[in-house]
Amino acid sequence: MNRSTSEQLYQEALKHIVGGVNSPSRSFKAVGGGAPVFMKRASGAHFWDEDGNRYIDYLAAFGPVITGFAHPHITAAITRAAENGVLYGTPTALEITLAKMVKEAIPSLDKVRFVNSGTEAVMSTIRVARAFTGRSKIIKFAGCYHGHSDLVLVAAGSGPSTLGIPDSAGIPVSIAHEVITVPFNSLNGLREALNRWGDDVAAVMVEPIVGNFGIVMPKPGFLEGMCKLAHDNGSLVIYDEVITNFRFHYGGAQNYAGLDNHEQIVPDLTAMGKIFGGGLPIGAYGGRKEIMDQVAPLGPAYQAGTMAGNPASISAGIACLEVLQGAGVYEEMERLAIRLTDGLKESADRHGIPLTINRIRGAFSTHFCDHPVTNYDEAQDTDGEAFASFFRHMLDRGINLAASKYEAWFLTTAHTDEDIDATLEAAEASFRAMKE
Ligand code: PLP
Repeated sequence: MNRSTSEQLYQEALKHIVGGVNSPSRSFKAVGGGAPVFMKRASGAHFWDEDGNRYIDYLAAFGPVITGFAHPHITAAITRAAENGVLYGTPTALEITLAKMVKEAIPSLDKVRFVNSGTEAVMSTIRVARAFTGRSKIIKFAGCYHGHSDLVLVAAGSGPSTLGIPDSAGIPVSIAHEVITVPFNSLNGLREALNRWGDDVAAVMVEPIVGNFGIVMPKPGFLEGMCKLAHDNGSLVIYDEVITNFRFHYGGAQNYAGLDNHEQIVPDLTAMGKIFGGGLPIGAYGGRKEIMDQVAPLGPAYQAGTMAGNPASISAGIACLEVLQGAGVYEEMERLAIRLTDGLKESADRHGIPLTINRIRGAFSTHFCDHPVTNYDEAQDTDGEAFASFFRHMLDRGINLAASKYEAWFLTTAHTDEDIDATLEAAEASFRAMKE
């Protein structure tokens, strides 16, 4: 496959844009480096690059594009919004419509506030939790990604009872010391951390179904135990549903039928993003009324945004949710994902390549290993070189995946059986080539 234009553009981009990319996960650093593919246009489940090559896409722009690219209903909504002026700096009726839709789908949200990204949403939940509890520390789980704000870009210390260390240059150690990281799916780790730091812990934050070291389900009882331990300690529970909102069904992971005991796993605050903006920048946070009433202009916790709730993003979000309300939408994504994951596993087995697949409805992750992946340690303990080789072979055969062994594959409402057949053919050839 000729990608010479992408290579030229990458050289040009390197001169002007740091690393040639505007978000590090778009680079190919995690799969051996080199020029990422420069895409020119996209429609449905397909991309075309600057050299005219076509790809079947499973990146979905890291999740938001669940209806496929340029969905006509969403495109019409964005066009209408553009014609009416994209930004007013005043409230609009559209915001109320989207707020009601989101609240109806996720009942733990008494009140919401729209922001521009998942990072902002998470950052704001932490501020509000601190304002409400008067405490400063946060407990998070290893491998969960909560955006790039200082407080959550912190790695585990050497054990569950140690304080965090910065995961990036530019983050003061004093900030990292406000964060404690414990292993996902480990109630013992959480208990130990709460025993040690409990009086200072404002909130326990988690991706209720993990999307950032693969797709990883909480073990039965984990979320329930986590909520109980946090609440018994006077701490709030924050769910980061930036990836999971509207991903597995029309709602959040917190009310997804695949999780038991819904009454016992209700968070106090939820951060959202990605899907419900229909591909335009969006985020939101919300939760219990008395907690959200801490936020300005009602309360003392300040949070604001010039672009927040802009009519373009809100219109795209409403249109996207309308598409997702269609009958059988999630069932069809799941049917295709089952066909795809069954076929991938059979193909990998045929070539003697160890492959663990974690799938929930239309989203799944592929781990090159022969053990289950239930936490970050297990996700790290997988063959990154095999993934990188698979990634490149698939790309050369016109299949676009995320360039990291930790990222998920996302089905969209635009994928078809033909796409799955073509992807399985490419996978069979890729696994064969990996063994040559
Ligand atoms: N939280 C989770 C769970 C995410 O996966 C992400 C992004 O991937 C974020 C927060 C940050 O969202 P954004 O990139 O929109 O700032």
